[in-house]
Amino acid sequence: IVESNTKSLVEKDRENVWHHISAYNEKNPPKIWESGEGAWITDHEGNRYLDGMSGLWAVNVGYGREELARAAYEQMKKMPYVSMTQSHEPAILLAEKLNEMLGDEYKIFYSNSGSDANEVAFKLARQYHQQNGEASRYKFISRYRAYHGNSMGALAATGQALRKYKYEPLAPGFLHVAPPDNYRRPEGQSIEEYNILRAQEFEEKIIWEQKETIAGIIMEPIITGGGILVPHPVYLEKVQEICNRHGVLLIIDEVICGFGRTGKAFGHQHFNLRPDIITMAKGLTSAYLPLSVTAIRKDIYEKFDTGEENSHFRHVNTFGGNPAACAVALKNIEIMENENLFDRSAELGERLQKELAILKDHPFVGDIRGLGFLLGIEIVEDKETRQPAKDERIAKIIGDCKANGLIVGRNGDTVAGFNNIIALSPPLSCTDDDLDFIIKVLKTVFAEIARTEG
Ligand code: PMP
Repeated sequence: IVESNTKSLVEKDRENVWHHISAYNEKNPPKIWESGEGAWITDHEGNRYLDGMSGLWAVNVGYGREELARAAYEQMKKMPYVSMTQSHEPAILLAEKLNEMLGDEYKIFYSNSGSDANEVAFKLARQYHQQNGEASRYKFISRYRAYHGNSMGALAATGQALRKYKYEPLAPGFLHVAPPDNYRRPEGQSIEEYNILRAQEFEEKIIWEQKETIAGIIMEPIITGGGILVPHPVYLEKVQEICNRHGVLLIIDEVICGFGRTGKAFGHQHFNLRPDIITMAKGLTSAYLPLSVTAIRKDIYEKFDTGEENSHFRHVNTFGGNPAACAVALKNIEIMENENLFDRSAELGERLQKELAILKDHPFVGDIRGLGFLLGIEIVEDKETRQPAKDERIAKIIGDCKANGLIVGRNGDTVAGFNNIIALSPPLSCTDDDLDFIIKVLKTVFAEIARTEG
């Protein structure tokens, strides 16, 4: 990097760029990342870190993939842009490929981000009910602790108050129920019983609100950003049953869980589910270019474009289905298939959980959970009371991991007080040595904290 004038890049960054959710200061300037290779990223001073969060849960095939850069380059050279009212080869081939991965039942709608994809899902669901003779169905139910995006609808669906309250009123008609948090279930309840009760909360909400007003339920198969909450299979199966019983559409948000993160192509494929609408982003292109998808099951789609007046879906975005982004997505999926990364994700995740199980012996580790190459470590003050750990303890873990060359995430829900989960979501392309490194750093850091705390 050439540092022009007399100011350093760090100074220019501080002056001009807004890193709005990170508390940077003179002593703690933001990292300026320069390059990446595999699971490793290098800052502008030459320090290397293993990216245990794949950026924001996104760079599934890892960094430095020349094939992806080449796919984008070739497509940009040939045809850089086609509006979404027309078509092009990468969009057609990608839709076909996604259907193959999903089970060949969906119509593929392209946009640019996970938030966009969810916004499309809400609009589609409302219009579907209107065209199905049930115009009164406009409400959506999601879960507390879930994150679904930053736009007024997707934020309304989000169940984390701190992200929302300064921007209200958001889109009306979004309701929430509690998610299954198996670690904090009431004493004496089996996980299965507890998950059934939690799923039934959807049905209660539907009944109290009058089922004729409910358009859809939106959920991730596993709540990721809200603290890696892995449900018992009975939970999702029950939700599916409730949707069927009440004519409510099931919208599955695969923005993080999709493209191998949980050890299968899509997270919902672990469960007996038949989603009406599926949203995807992040791992679709491994974040090399922005692209998202809203997949609509064909029997839902059949209510659109019927030839009747106004039966079209009125939604256009300039960049949706960008040719280079679609070409990158196709190549990205090809890499995942060639390198068997969905199975690899399951294998890496299993080894990670097995090797890290020993961390539960530390007095401040309450729970370790996950599915595929997605892991949450819940840090507590006290194992008996399960009181979430204080900020200092979590900051220490994250800081010490970073000092040892490993970037980990933190999540949960600040307002609910469960912002105490250390998250791991490394590239699925991690080597065995990378995995050993992750395990070694975590074991060392946790042991050292246990030792200094006595
Ligand atoms: N859904 C989920 C589950 C997400 O985690 C995110 C982003 N972290 C979104 C939707 C929104 O995606 P984007 O940031 O691309 O708008």
